[in-house]
Amino acid sequence: MGASIDGLVDELRDAARELDAAVWRAGLSGRFTSTLRSRAEQERLYRAYISGRHPFPVAAPGFSAHEYGEAFDYLVAPAEYQNDVGQTWVSWGGEWGGAADVVHFELPGASARAAARGRDGAGDVPWYVNIASSLPFGLGTSLLFDFLGVPTAARANVSPEQLEILQSIARQQGFRQ
Ligand SMILES: [Zn+2]
Repeated sequence: MGASIDGLVDELRDAARELDAAVWRAGLSGRFTSTLRSRAEQERLYRAYISGRHPFPVAAPGFSAHEYGEAFDYLVAPAEYQNDVGQTWVSWGGEWGGAADVVHFELPGASARAAARGRDGAGDVPWYVNIASSLPFGLGTSLLFDFLGVPTAARANVSPEQLEILQSIARQQGFRQ
């Protein structure tokens, strides 16, 4: 069970293996729940996230350190030790998602690098069209929805937070209201 760490960059894969070993040595258990992600996988997760169906934050496709093999998600049991494991990772020089994303571990600066790569690549692939076509929307921002190509029937129950995300996506794609 769990995701393979094989696709992670060497530096992270070795450290991930050490972290996992340390967890089990301490009498806890842990498993990798997400490691290297394809663009399609990131799109699927992102769609789930902005639809409110994912428990942890998900970066937009192209913008996640997971897509570059520089991050992994790791779930510790018992759960009350998740923070300790995160702090251990930080003490080793890594970056951890903290309270907002307790399962997320990455190389130093990985998310910042991924964001820069995502901005560089924005416009290559109209991924937002795939995502927008299956989103539940609801607020009366029809111009935004039209821009993103969201079918009328799908515009139900968007939260203010989701709307903010969508607005930022649309702005990245050149939307001006
Ligand atoms: Zn993550």
